Amino acid sequence: MIETIFFEEEIYEHPTTERIRRALPRAGWVPIDRYQELFNKRHQNFKLQKKNPALILAKKYDNFVLPVPSGFGMDSHKNFYFSHMYNCLYDCKYCFLQGMYSSANFVLFVNYEDFFRSISEKIKKYKGQSLTFFSGYDCDSLAFDKLSGFANQALNFFNGLSNVELELRTKSIAIGSLLQREPLSNCVAAFSLSPAQVAKSLDSKAPSINRRISAIKQLADAGWKIGLRFDPLIYTSDWKELYSALFADIMNGLDPERIHSISYGPLRFPKKMYKKAASLHPEHKLFAFPMEETNGVVSYGTKIETQMHDFLKSELNNYISENKIFQCTI
Ligand code: SF4
Repeated sequence: MIETIFFEEEIYEHPTTERIRRALPRAGWVPIDRYQELFNKRHQNFKLQKKNPALILAKKYDNFVLPVPSGFGMDSHKNFYFSHMYNCLYDCKYCFLQGMYSSANFVLFVNYEDFFRSISEKIKKYKGQSLTFFSGYDCDSLAFDKLSGFANQALNFFNGLSNVELELRTKSIAIGSLLQREPLSNCVAAFSLSPAQVAKSLDSKAPSINRRISAIKQLADAGWKIGLRFDPLIYTSDWKELYSALFADIMNGLDPERIHSISYGPLRFPKKMYKKAASLHPEHKLFAFPMEETNGVVSYGTKIETQMHDFLKSELNNYISENKIFQCTI
């Protein structure tokens, strides 16, 4: 439950602000000038803030749409990402956001229309090429959707665009804005998944794997395209059994035709981010594992990564054709 909402005075009358005002009538509303004055303040206690984060409503002015880092995308010619929020309702222990921002408060950029204008400009610039726009890079695409109403507006915008795909990446089961409309052939609802025991231990506050699988099946039955994202892959003593069982659970009763793509990627942290995550969760066994560091990147190391890659690829091939399976390398 959000108790405090800081808002830039400039966007007080914006329809998204109005929507949130109606949804959270009892929250305390505090005017601010610009969101950075709160969000970027140094020496904030991330762990403490994460227990009871405030919401900051802001206007974004630039860098609406950015190219994805190499090694992230599927096989479109050009891949971009955008983030209408910074930070996430959930608290995954490996999440790179906790190393990226000094604040755990949520920033919601209410001027969605400027994101869509910027996406239109990219489409115009790369006319005729296949483009994918990834939502959910600095946040979860759907976790906040009941409040933000973002997905519905994004789907209205992307509806009917040819050669252009939208990926909504999520661990959320807030799929109402998709289920209430006809499926879009150019939208992928992409779910991040791990074996249930792993998710229970690492994906704090996120819906259980059973509930995510149930959301996937509801969307698939309604005709939506599904992405399956196994990223990061987590190594345990019984990882092979756990991942095999997870794939079997997902695919049980799911029409493989509904699967747009599957991707997987190794657990990797830039060194600074690893230190920050480990300091926030010193008790967790993830950070007791003897990781390797190469060129400033902390990981399980090539041997484990290769074992996991080979196994995943051959297991997934039992369910789906190879051209839909991608390895992410970042
Ligand atoms: S769901 Fe994604 S963005 Fe949210 S905490 Fe987990 S890893 Fe981070």
